Amino acid sequence: MNLDNKVSQLAKRRGFYFQSAEAYGGVAGFQTFGPQGAELKRNIEESWRDTFSRGLGHKEIEGPTVMPEPVFQASGHLDGFDDMIIECPECGTNTRADHLVEDNTGVEEAEGFSTEQIEGLIKEHGLVCPECNEHLAGVEVNDFNLMFKTSIGPGDGTNGYLRPETVQGIFTEFPRLKQYARNQLPFGVTQIGKAYRNEISPRKGLVRTREFTQAELDLFIDPEEDRPDLTDVKDIELKLYSVEEQKSDEGEYIVATVEEAIEEEIIGVNWIAYYLGIAKEWYKEIGIDMDRFRFRQHQKGERAHYASDCWDAEADISGEDEEEEWLEIAGFSYRGCYDLKKHGQHSGNEREFKIFKEYDEPVVQEETKVDIDMGILGPEYGDEAGEIAEIIEREVRQAPSVAEDGPIFVHLDGEEHAVDNSAVEVSVEEVKKTGEEITPEVVEPSFGVDRTVYTVLVHGYNEDVVDNEKRTVLHLSNEVAPVEVAVFPLMDKEGLGDRAREIASELRDSGLNVEYDDSGNIGKRYRRQDEVGTPYCVTVDYETLEDEPETVTVRERDSTEQERVKINELEEYLSSKL
Ligand code: AMP
Repeated sequence: MNLDNKVSQLAKRRGFYFQSAEAYGGVAGFQTFGPQGAELKRNIEESWRDTFSRGLGHKEIEGPTVMPEPVFQASGHLDGFDDMIIECPECGTNTRADHLVEDNTGVEEAEGFSTEQIEGLIKEHGLVCPECNEHLAGVEVNDFNLMFKTSIGPGDGTNGYLRPETVQGIFTEFPRLKQYARNQLPFGVTQIGKAYRNEISPRKGLVRTREFTQAELDLFIDPEEDRPDLTDVKDIELKLYSVEEQKSDEGEYIVATVEEAIEEEIIGVNWIAYYLGIAKEWYKEIGIDMDRFRFRQHQKGERAHYASDCWDAEADISGEDEEEEWLEIAGFSYRGCYDLKKHGQHSGNEREFKIFKEYDEPVVQEETKVDIDMGILGPEYGDEAGEIAEIIEREVRQAPSVAEDGPIFVHLDGEEHAVDNSAVEVSVEEVKKTGEEITPEVVEPSFGVDRTVYTVLVHGYNEDVVDNEKRTVLHLSNEVAPVEVAVFPLMDKEGLGDRAREIASELRDSGLNVEYDDSGNIGKRYRRQDEVGTPYCVTVDYETLEDEPETVTVRERDSTEQERVKINELEEYLSSKL
């Protein structure tokens, strides 16, 4: 059985995640997090929040998951958020065409290819339908938009879409968010929430679903002024797989500190390098194995329609003897001013999507003023006078000399008009400017929470032998483990159960996440907790009641070593360990 199968069986058995609505046959691409999984996911989200939101002084918002059509016209998702699809003419199965090519040829990163290129590769390699083996050469490859469409309100309503990424909810609220940031750049806004993509071929449980959670951060900066403070991150080592290395035969990783990566221009955008440093430390903290982790730069054709530079955090999710399988778990892109400009234009509120940048000191500038005597233009040009005046104003501003000698020639609707320059008065005025309006640029780290949960499970999964018996154990980090402490009575008899329940309740009161368990023999209970990654198990036995002061055994998950601890010191003991 491969590692993915082992983890998904464990996930089902112990309540991490499983196919949704199985009683109705289930629908591909939707998963339910069970009690352990929901807790694990929440812990990961909370840890992300601590690091990327509160930890960096950014502010979190929570927007709706349904948004009106114009938002996605502006963002480009309506036209460009497509994957390539091929429909089998024999059995009707729809397959993601670029994945079909990647999975069955040596070609990598086929996502960036055109539909014609993919059709060519399908023909060249004689690829067949994965469902019925029908040859697909000559079958058309089409673009398929991944957004879920819905209708808002009764009747025909207005078109709406489930958001395909959480960040559009940040961009659309920029006019207010900039006020809360007191119109000062840089400022960062985060959001954790559901995103929806009508994936053509959902796969592997949590890896590619149609509803998933993203944790996203948009940092709005003035590209001319704002630089990251590298003090805390400059020495963090990054394992980088640059475009150049991906293309070279050796394809080696570059190991560089954040500072070196910026200085040697391995990473083109200093803010991206900064966030990669923070992200690496965070992934380490939540238990991602750094030997199975890298940052990979996007190749040109792979980048989203808005991004100028992009790096992904990737984790190898394969098992020990399996072929490497790298999974994108987060993307870090430099979106420039694309989104704010588009939302400004499409909403008709361009100024609202800009920010007023105050100069350190006011600047005095010369400005050309153009006064046009409509008393002359009106009678002469009638209905066209207004338009002619606008053209003259624009042209004279650009080149005041056109108004100096003789008539000004204006072209309107294919006709040339010679306007007497006595109708135009040009003057130069000194204007004091205190600042200017600029469109901020955006740096965006975007994390897939479900894939992070999956990677934490895959990297934490292990099988070993304890007391001559095979055990399955999840080496989860204390930061995210769904249960922190399990409390058992040796047996629910002679007051042991009551005492154990009391201890569990006291530990809960102290803020720990505690599970009480008295079913089955003690060995089985340890195994159950090992399988959900509980770092500590506390057992109340006969000695507990005899000792003065009372003691319990505390068993540590990874070493399985046991220690006797006084109950009146238990809370402190566990808190310090956790
Ligand atoms: P993207 O906007 O495509 O860069 O996605 C951001 C992050 O969301 C990715 O790095 C993934 O971790 C995650 N993600 C994207 N699509 C899916 C999906 N269909 N299922 C689960 N996670 C996804």
